[in-house]
Amino acid sequence: MNAAQPMRVLVVEDEQKVANALREGLQGEQYTVVVERTGESAFFRINTEPFDLILLDLGLPGRDGLQILRAMREKGIRTPVLVLTARDTLEDRVVGLDSGADDYLVKPFAFAELLARARALVRRGRESEVPRLGIADLRMDLIARKVTRGAQPVELTVREFELLEFLLRHQGQVVSRETLARDVWKETARTTPLDNVIDVHIARLRRKVDHEQPTRLIHTVRGVGFMIREGEP
Ligand code: CA
Repeated sequence: MNAAQPMRVLVVEDEQKVANALREGLQGEQYTVVVERTGESAFFRINTEPFDLILLDLGLPGRDGLQILRAMREKGIRTPVLVLTARDTLEDRVVGLDSGADDYLVKPFAFAELLARARALVRRGRESEVPRLGIADLRMDLIARKVTRGAQPVELTVREFELLEFLLRHQGQVVSRETLARDVWKETARTTPLDNVIDVHIARLRRKVDHEQPTRLIHTVRGVGFMIREGEP
């Protein structure tokens, strides 16, 4: 991750007033803020987009914060989580931390306190950041340059690896052929159209990644480009 990029924070909070206050405060500190108000929508978001930090309210409609936390940790998502809760009992704290929270803040809290904790967590998160990308059961190790789907290794050529890495870094977003030509093939002067070359590589990559898998990850968005995500776009 590039240090110059704005930090992305997911705020999971069903109380509109609290959510708005957090959004405004964090945006004022140059964070990029996404707000989700239910457990389901938050869990979907966590699975499809990368964040530097998650502020998680425990009392949510539907799946509560602890369920979200446990589920994301079980999936191997290591994003730092700061739990926000109205409950202030030792037992709740222990359960929260046992479920994979990194820190705990009891409402009502001072915004300055929240900012201090948030900064500390993001710093720690970046220090321990593993150069790994993934989606669903697909994992890419950027150091060992190995890819696995479930327990199976996926053998890729150098170009296929770069293509998959680019898609994973933009997961959930549609990536056009123009973008791939420029950023993966480094073709700036478009003297030779690469569309066919790109399509062939995508087809090969898809065969290797999605063949005989119950969930397809690499999708074609007709007339626009390609997208990696869990489930149909
Ligand atoms: Ca709540």
